[in-house]
Amino acid sequence: MQDPVILYIVLPCYNEEAVLPETARRLLALLETMRAQETIAPSSKIVFVDDGSRDRTWEIISGLAEAHEEVSGLKLAKNAGHQNALLAGLMTVRSECGCAISIDADLQDDINAIPQMVQKYYEGNDVVYGVRSSRKTDTAFKRETALLFYKLMRLLGVNMVYNHADYRLMSRRALDALAEFPEVNLFLRGLVPLVGYRSASVSYERQERFAGESKYPLKKMLSFAFDGITSFSITPIRLISGLGIVACLFSMIMAVYAFIVKLMGHSTEGWSSLMVSIWFLGGVQLVSVGLIGEYIGKIYKEVKRRPRYIIEEYKKE
Ligand code: UDP
Ligand code: MG
Repeated sequence: MQDPVILYIVLPCYNEEAVLPETARRLLALLETMRAQETIAPSSKIVFVDDGSRDRTWEIISGLAEAHEEVSGLKLAKNAGHQNALLAGLMTVRSECGCAISIDADLQDDINAIPQMVQKYYEGNDVVYGVRSSRKTDTAFKRETALLFYKLMRLLGVNMVYNHADYRLMSRRALDALAEFPEVNLFLRGLVPLVGYRSASVSYERQERFAGESKYPLKKMLSFAFDGITSFSITPIRLISGLGIVACLFSMIMAVYAFIVKLMGHSTEGWSSLMVSIWFLGGVQLVSVGLIGEYIGKIYKEVKRRPRYIIEEYKKE
């Protein structure tokens, strides 16, 4: 049997004062059990990342870090968003741990899957994906849109694990590999499969958030999905060419039609077809320009190589 691994559990927290005490209580109990069973090393830790919260989140995290030696807190200087906060946490701890598990602070993801994930790690997997067994607790709307999103991503040629969000275990080696991706537009669930290495899945039931409210309103969800698509697929840009070809064919048909109408002598009738084609082509051009602009915006961001997060404080013990 190998030596027990040092496990770090990393939780991004944005305005989570309502859930943190309970989350910490449950995770500390789990850590205690796993340490007693010697499935993880005594120096294993829980790391809360405060993503620029405006409520008492950091106070609570500091308090927990002081009271428990197995709790650490990391405070970001400003709100960087879920994905960036998660990356900040993982990149900060990667040199200290043998493997790290990322999980949301609201514990919607069942923490009882953690021992199974660690087990899969011992079986030689560098990445273990937490996969939701059902979407019972979601609204029908969220369920349907999520399904549509996964289908669309597959269609666009992006390799993603179905029904997996950001609940996953990564070995130190996998984290080191992830660090090699310098991109600014972060969509971790698309990036991690690109890392490679052996991977496995563990399924779990996703619960309702037990306190507080979702930090992912529809607007953020849509922009997240859009980011996922444009960061990983160039299919939309290819669609422009397709659209252009279709528009050309269409205008040829229009030309033939206009010619016939003219031959028949009532040329004012061509006015409507002319209007149709002008509007149609105008629309096609606008859509195309908008899409190209989207990619240029991305290139612009990447070229600047801005830091993805700035750490204000790393509080241990
Ligand atoms: N989160 C964050 N920064 C943000 C938004 C969210 O760190 O700007 C964290 C949040 O605290 C939670 C996780 O990301 O731990 C997932 O958010 P939430 O539970 O609100 O999303 P949902 O489960 O509703 O999709
Ligand atoms: Mg949640």
